[in-house]
Amino acid sequence: MCGIVGYIGPKEAYPILIKGLKRLEYRGYDSAGVALLNGDLTILKKEGKVSDLEMHAEGKNKTGTVGIGHTRWATHGVPSDLNAHPHVSNSAQLAIIHNGIIENYASLKTELVKRGYTFKSDTDTEVLMNLIEDIKKEEEVDIEEALRIALNEVVGAYAIVVIDKANPDKIIAARKGSPLVIGIGDKEFYVASDASPIVEFTKEVVYLNDEEFAVLHRNGDMEIKDLGNITKTPYIQKLEMDLETIEKGGYDTFMLKEIYEQPKVIGDALRGRMNAKEGWIKLGGVSEFATRINNAERLIIGACGTSWHSGLIAEYVIEELARVPVEVEYASEFRYRNPIVTSKDVMIAISQSGETADTLAAIEIAKERQALIFGICNVIGSSISRVSHAGAYTHAGPEIGVASTKAFSTQVAILMLMALQLAQKKGSISASRLRQILYELEEIPKKIEEALTLNDEIERIAAKYFEAENFLYLGRGINFPVALEGALKLKEISYIHAEGYPAAEMKHGPIALIDENMPVLFIATNKSAHEKIVSNIQEVKARKGKVIAVINHADEVIEGLADDVIRVPETEELLSPLVSIVPLQLLSYHIALMRNCNVDQPRNLAKSVTVE
Ligand code: GLU
Repeated sequence: MCGIVGYIGPKEAYPILIKGLKRLEYRGYDSAGVALLNGDLTILKKEGKVSDLEMHAEGKNKTGTVGIGHTRWATHGVPSDLNAHPHVSNSAQLAIIHNGIIENYASLKTELVKRGYTFKSDTDTEVLMNLIEDIKKEEEVDIEEALRIALNEVVGAYAIVVIDKANPDKIIAARKGSPLVIGIGDKEFYVASDASPIVEFTKEVVYLNDEEFAVLHRNGDMEIKDLGNITKTPYIQKLEMDLETIEKGGYDTFMLKEIYEQPKVIGDALRGRMNAKEGWIKLGGVSEFATRINNAERLIIGACGTSWHSGLIAEYVIEELARVPVEVEYASEFRYRNPIVTSKDVMIAISQSGETADTLAAIEIAKERQALIFGICNVIGSSISRVSHAGAYTHAGPEIGVASTKAFSTQVAILMLMALQLAQKKGSISASRLRQILYELEEIPKKIEEALTLNDEIERIAAKYFEAENFLYLGRGINFPVALEGALKLKEISYIHAEGYPAAEMKHGPIALIDENMPVLFIATNKSAHEKIVSNIQEVKARKGKVIAVINHADEVIEGLADDVIRVPETEELLSPLVSIVPLQLLSYHIALMRNCNVDQPRNLAKSVTVE
């Protein structure tokens, strides 16, 4: 998520920081700021774009040869001037920028408040800043030792840079989970989230490892240590990439980068919200309105496009585990009916951007009729998150590719947690079954990693089918929405006409389309309907259709029947969409590339559909 930049050396820092922040804009953000040391500590920060920050900084003192800059993608607290980084410690001596999430910020904050600390923002970052200050004062240690001790107390992910008014000749940077790279110039250092702000100044870089921190001195000295205080030898690498490649993290496209980010962001979405060993789930938004949600007579899911598909998956899972009726509505249709909604209903509104116009309108109707609104969005502070009574963020980070991938899978992960929490509260699931599913959920990022290793194989399959004019995607049960999502991905980015159907519905129409030119993709991972799926595959083969099947390992029956198989790792059936969607995303990706389509910005589509 978002971006950080730092500089220490002989040059003026402000122009370097601003340019660097602009280079990091592609990552998505909602506010920006800088801190400069010039005898004083100057903080300039603003909600909005880097250009808004520049306007805000006009006429103000921007001198200083050491400074830090940040673009924020809010996780704790709405996007606002006050929540923007840098954050300053209570003594006004220290300033910090941070990318990531401090999970145990609430308990740390309570402790600091008891000790007399006050907070200007709602961020987890300001808590970390004052924790460092408190340790520095109490233990009478220097800033780097205070930072080291503090980071040993922190749970979560971070890339941070800290400056100290009393020590203008050094900056300190540390990371765990979030990226951080140091550029080495001639008696100067650059720090950034990726190499894009650095590459025009120097090609010599050091990538900091997790749980390491670096002290960068104005005289050109650099020390790197781990959190156990062991000194590390820096491994200096030469940058050989161009700017654009760096912004995409080495991937050719944002879509591919986002597909590959799924194991990490699903981990982010689950972090702090469940624990398999201890058997608990805690979705903040759900706990707050527990009585209304647990007693809801019906859940109405309102969404559009890919989000509607994650809603369909949730319908299977919630009804199976929590035994509450669920209706999944196209938000765009719901609003043009006279829907029956009462105060006993809960509407779950799902939208990546949180700005989808039809979903907002559906919320309005449900709200007028007294339903409780639970929003699931990716963009913090977005309209849907503001008009909802309660909700949960997906924490997928900025999604730039127009065709949604990681936002979809994090939505599904959140909905799984919601189903489990509801089932637990309603007593419709045994403790052992709950734990079993939670353990499997924890394993999902690893299983997606494994599915991603199939990329080359999938590219080979794509080469066989990329000239097809039509595609059929079929699945049963929980794999039916996966078929819909797979077909949508292909349509969106390759412009091939593709349809998703419940496999059993094939006989009621689509079977008429099958001939030797029709590829039919079966999502055939579920055990419960295996024999039925095998019959459907036979039916397609009997009509000379080409079968591509997504299966679990060692499914000899389907291996013997299908033209091509994609073997994904097995998981709990209710969770299987999280794994089986991955090869479908990759398949559409490769087919689109082979057809020379712009996968990141497909024609006619917008990332956030803010018109009706
Ligand atoms: N958790 C921090 C915040 O909400 C940092 C977010 C980021 O990575 O920009 O301010």
